Amino acid sequence: MRVGLTCLALLLVSGCGVLLPRTSAGPRPAPTPRPNGPTGAQSSPAPSPSPSSAPSGTPRPPQPRHISCAHVKCVALTFDDGPGNYTSHVLDVLAKHYARATFFLVGEMIHKEDQPVLRRMVAEGHELGNHTWDHRDLTSLSDAGLKHEVVSTERLVKEVTGVRMHALRPPYGATDRRVAGEAKRLGLGQVLWAVDTLDWRDRVPKLVVQRSTAAKPGQIVLMHDIHKTTVEALPRLLNVFDKKGFTYVTVSELFGDLKPGKRYSDR
Ligand SMILES: [Zn+2]
Repeated sequence: MRVGLTCLALLLVSGCGVLLPRTSAGPRPAPTPRPNGPTGAQSSPAPSPSPSSAPSGTPRPPQPRHISCAHVKCVALTFDDGPGNYTSHVLDVLAKHYARATFFLVGEMIHKEDQPVLRRMVAEGHELGNHTWDHRDLTSLSDAGLKHEVVSTERLVKEVTGVRMHALRPPYGATDRRVAGEAKRLGLGQVLWAVDTLDWRDRVPKLVVQRSTAAKPGQIVLMHDIHKTTVEALPRLLNVFDKKGFTYVTVSELFGDLKPGKRYSDR
């Protein structure tokens, strides 16, 4: 793999990769249930078992990195709707590329057996984000319902990992003044995206690679770790990003501290 000079300088503390742009925030279906999930549906196995670690207890994150995305080509890969059956494999692939990402978690998807995966995310420097309890359109809920969607996931993730999240991704990208107000009260930045891979709609790895790698420096890329085709695309898209000399950052690394209530999609 070829590595750009900028990338090379950062290789020890970060990862290098690449992306292309594309925007859209159309509606999408609710998260696909996992094979062993409460509603049990699909049946495809994970691309490979996850041989790696499954930390227990409160994880210790690595030292904070200070990456200047004003000077290097940063991209923030984000994975929504998990954790799922492929998530630990996603972590294995990211680790091979020294890539850190942000996982926007759905509270009801976090089962007992997923807790080690969440702790592993923290231990490996990934960021955890709030994607509500059960993937509702927050703009359609009462004030109490809206708060419940966010707070219940916040509490569970804190209990499992010890981490207080700073990023909220409203499902479907649906937000308004009321959602922004609640995010602000709860200390959460609203993290949307600049590049939509539409991986939930087009289950074709080649398309996921093409769309994700269209990202420009400073952009957030939306993907879903619950789709097998996205996981299959991951090594290839990371190779492309690597060749372009990108550095993979979390959303908080991309923007610095997220301002509660503010919307983010690129820098
Ligand atoms: Zn989602």
